[in-house]
Amino acid sequence: MGKLPLRARLATTVGGAAGRVSRMSGRGDGAVIGGAVGLRMEPDLLRLLAAGRQIVLVTGTNGKTTTTRLITAALEALGQEVASNAFGANMEAGLASALGRAPDAQHAVLETDERFLPAVIEATSPKVVTLLNLSRDQMDRAAEIWLIARRWREALAAADCLVIANADDPLIAWAAGAARQVTWVAAGQEWHEDSWCCPECGSHLQRDAAGWRCGECPFTRPPTPWVLDGACVIDPLGQVRELNLALPGRANRSNAVVALAVADAFGITVDQALPALQQVSSVAGRYTLVERGGCQVRLLLAKNPAGWLEAFDVLTKGATPVLLSVNAQVPDGKDTSWLWDVDYRLLRGRPVLVAGERRLDLAVRLEADQVDFVLVDGLDDAIAKAGSGELDVIANYTAFQRIRAVLGRTA
Ligand SMILES: [Zn+2]
Repeated sequence: MGKLPLRARLATTVGGAAGRVSRMSGRGDGAVIGGAVGLRMEPDLLRLLAAGRQIVLVTGTNGKTTTTRLITAALEALGQEVASNAFGANMEAGLASALGRAPDAQHAVLETDERFLPAVIEATSPKVVTLLNLSRDQMDRAAEIWLIARRWREALAAADCLVIANADDPLIAWAAGAARQVTWVAAGQEWHEDSWCCPECGSHLQRDAAGWRCGECPFTRPPTPWVLDGACVIDPLGQVRELNLALPGRANRSNAVVALAVADAFGITVDQALPALQQVSSVAGRYTLVERGGCQVRLLLAKNPAGWLEAFDVLTKGATPVLLSVNAQVPDGKDTSWLWDVDYRLLRGRPVLVAGERRLDLAVRLEADQVDFVLVDGLDDAIAKAGSGELDVIANYTAFQRIRAVLGRTA
């Protein structure tokens, strides 16, 4: 902190105070307002706060918050403080706030909004940029995510950093392919609907057991030193270890393998990092088990079609009832036509309850997939109607926050 210019130090102090006021008044965790006040006073605050630190940026449509948490846990294995925006405030103000709150941390792991990645790379000169996946989110359509990938590609071509990227997502492979140094991870891709076309030439991509390649141009899946293989990670030396995570599902195993590759770039071995990853059991309220009216409620967030596919993979096996809750506020996207992109047939035979502002849209969608369901008024009604000791909840963004508020959780 002592190295910061006076103006930046002042901006951090005032920003921190604004954040504390925001927290005390119960308006959130204060990260965004604190950072925003600081940035108003010193527009270069992020650059100044990042200077001299080893920074990891994490971006992608899904898994950013969890992967940020896992990488942070792995780097903490070095025994030092790690700055991080653990609660997903992932635009400039949230990043500045995370760094301002940990002035002495030499390492920082920062979840970064997809659209801000080029600006944040420019401001923070990261050591590592982590690219997870790109698929449609809310109102985005294929052309928009291609534009995002192209901006990443340009920014990474100009940057001096190591990129750790998922080779199984063709858009990610294309964006990372221009970087000077890339470590490829076979992290898998369950959602293919946004990557049928070659990002380089527009031709149809071909897929087989070996991955994907363009039928027309040389663009092809790169070889991967790190591999997620079922429940195991295969490291660059070919050693196989079981992941044994507390976090559920294939998507989180994929995030963990990416985190191990990032840790390796900091000289942290799999044997050092893995126990730290195994300790992580809940991320910003997700996957949390909460007791409510004698029922064990488990919360899953799904913001877009690929996220719903991941959430279905995580559902408790058997016939545990599941509550689906969908809103269409601005942070969710006003358009719910994406509901038609999700295959709900996996829910057949399981008790399904439907809530949220757009429950009727979802009801129509479920009928089309011949999934039986019951309409309910929120969480408590769902618990009463489910009549089970367990309930899985899948909700999109504001519906998730609403349920957390009902449960009295704000952080
Ligand atoms: Zn091509």
